Amino acid sequence: ATQPYDDSNIFARILRGEIPSKTVYDDEHALAFHDINPQAPTHILVIPKGAYVSWDDFSARASEAEIAGFVRAVGKVARDLGLVAPGYRLLANVGRDSHQEVPHLHVHLFAGRPLGPMLA
Ligand code: 5GP
Repeated sequence: ATQPYDDSNIFARILRGEIPSKTVYDDEHALAFHDINPQAPTHILVIPKGAYVSWDDFSARASEAEIAGFVRAVGKVARDLGLVAPGYRLLANVGRDSHQEVPHLHVHLFAGRPLGPMLA
């Protein structure tokens, strides 16, 4: 079972405007901003505006409109940044074994160099 949503997590605070982030995209359903500790030349986090702990929580509870809006936003961020031709990687950690650190769903978008094999 997914843990209850903790409104004090760092991405909830970013959504409320309480702490700054380098925004790259903002719409009704999603916010995208640069990761504070980038693991690739381009490392962006895309998050839903709703209060969801993880991909598990979001996929179980979110409305069709939220899911469609979020998935389309992830694709749009990559297209708008010109990343489709060179390529990019999406990653979402869920739960303890994944080392998910922030309990608000985020999809990592990595690009800007050859990324190598998964889990390298
Ligand atoms: P996770 O390990 O939960 O999948 O990823 C959390 C990510 O959030 C990490 O890549 C980390 O660098 C990033 N992060 C943590 N705190 C902040 C913050 O305050 N601002 C931004 N922009 N990124 C953060």
